[in-house]
Amino acid sequence: MKVAIITGASRGIGRAIALELYKRGCNIVFNYTRSTQAAEELVKECTSTDRQALAYQVDAADFPAVQDMVKDVKSKLGRIDILVNNAGITNDKLIVRMKEEDWDKVLDTNLKSAFNFCRAVTPIMLKQESGRILNISSISGIVGMAGQANYSASKAGLIGLTKALAKELGSRNITVNALAPGMIETDMTATLSEDYKKSLLEQIPLRRFGQVDEIARIAAFLVSEDAAYITGQVIQVDGGLAM
Ligand code: NAD
Repeated sequence: MKVAIITGASRGIGRAIALELYKRGCNIVFNYTRSTQAAEELVKECTSTDRQALAYQVDAADFPAVQDMVKDVKSKLGRIDILVNNAGITNDKLIVRMKEEDWDKVLDTNLKSAFNFCRAVTPIMLKQESGRILNISSISGIVGMAGQANYSASKAGLIGLTKALAKELGSRNITVNALAPGMIETDMTATLSEDYKKSLLEQIPLRRFGQVDEIARIAAFLVSEDAAYITGQVIQVDGGLAM
């Protein structure tokens, strides 16, 4: 049975991906930082007796803690087949107001976290001669967004990481792709002003925000056997926003 690690999965897109992979027969493992109750609820939702759901309270940006978590997962479940780097935050500000810590926190949470997990799981996947890595980027990393220098840079960084690792790991049957969502209805976008949301809707050809399940199903496809010949790609799931 496959083992999938999904980072930052106590809510939003990560939670939907974790549940979709569980539904499709994977053991799921996820980390979270603060929301213990939400993490426990997700574990409780996974009721099948033939597979597990494990939660770890681990900051994805903490290199040693991530190494320990992955070691523990390997010893408990024996293998790691899928890694979805989903943990992410925004801290939007114009560059003239952006403090050093605003930059560092977003880059550490969104980009260094992915390095931390890739660094920990790749020796295992290389030995298995199989693996799937999916990095949740954003259209902000493709087109850049004003007020999001830190976030756009982190998401563009994930695309570079994706392509470099796709080249590095492809010969061992490990695929590495990025999924770039547009505007998806989650807590992250709930804080946007109504006026801004309205102006965005006018630019989205499909005239609506996406749902987390729509991201989860594409993510599940990209880490499945059916996607065995797709690597190094950035798949936009954005209703046509960033063309
Ligand atoms: P969300 O805020 O609902 O969820 C983010 C998750 O990441 C939370 O569970 C949070 O606890 C976790 N997290 C944050 N920092 C962490 C850390 N240091 N360690 C472990 N977990 C941490 O947001 P979401 O909309 O579900 O976003 C999920 C991913 O999708 C993010 O990477 C985000 O950048 C990306 N994304 C979202 C949208 C959107 O419109 N919602 C668009 C493009 C990309």
